[in-house]
Amino acid sequence: MSDAWDLPKGNLMAGKRGIVMGVANEKSIAWGISRQLAAQGAELAFTYQGEKLERRVRPLVESIGQDVMISADVTDDAEMDAAFASIKQRWGKIDFLVHSIAFAGKEELQGSMVENTTREGFRRAMDISVFSFIDCARRASEIMPDGGSVLAMTYLGAERTVPSYNVMGVAKAGLEAATRYAARDLGPQGIRVNAISAGAMKTLSLAGIRGGKSLMGTGRDWSLLKEDTSMEGVAGGALYLLSQLGRSITGEIVHIDAGFHAVGVPDLG
Ligand code: NAD
Repeated sequence: MSDAWDLPKGNLMAGKRGIVMGVANEKSIAWGISRQLAAQGAELAFTYQGEKLERRVRPLVESIGQDVMISADVTDDAEMDAAFASIKQRWGKIDFLVHSIAFAGKEELQGSMVENTTREGFRRAMDISVFSFIDCARRASEIMPDGGSVLAMTYLGAERTVPSYNVMGVAKAGLEAATRYAARDLGPQGIRVNAISAGAMKTLSLAGIRGGKSLMGTGRDWSLLKEDTSMEGVAGGALYLLSQLGRSITGEIVHIDAGFHAVGVPDLG
């Protein structure tokens, strides 16, 4: 495993079932979260983006004793309908959903946002990274009769400028607003909606950003803890928000980034 840690085992999620969307490989944030949830007794259904990922994702899913895997591209309404129908048929209801999905074209994730954002690129980034979250929150709420918890993944580029992040920063700002509005709409049903703002982590998504490596370096060198954001920290935060530990928390964006978000002027020694 890329980021091994002693998974805190227990039964915080015993008897809880939920959907994890966005595992592409063993480095995916969704995968770290899944390992932690499974170690606390959760039963998981995984959706993944198309058959080409199946071969990579299946061994991971099986390694934590799970077996529900459904192909679902979030831009395909028919696939999304089928995925949620199949989970409803299997379990009747769910307790949580993790949305760990984003996309923008490589050509958008470099240089000038003003110069490089096309109408089509903007539409695609917003559709996959923001609308899909709203859509999933609605679909999940329909199978959460006893309340539940929904979680999205965001990044500091929503609040501050970050080199190359560009249209994805605009999308993450939308995602964070959508988190608050979904929390408002679903609160009366006892459904909590939150997002984790994670520091830069070495995943496939980061590799798509020009200069992604230096985002990690700056994230570490400027951080208050002087360390990389750990999968352990992000997965632990997800467990907190998705379990009863996070009971009264909703509409919140939780920064898990070794303190990077708190820095105004870095102390570089
Ligand atoms: P990742 O590449 O492992 O995960 C992104 C996932 O999005 C992949 O599983 C991919 O298949 C999925 N996806 C993209 N388009 C899709 C579509 N049309 N339908 C279904 N799935 C689709 O990278 P990651 O870093 O684990 O990203 C997960 C989330 O975390 C994203 O929202 C990302 O913006 C966010 N995030 C990442 C970092 C970081 O530094 N890696 C930091 C903060 C937030």
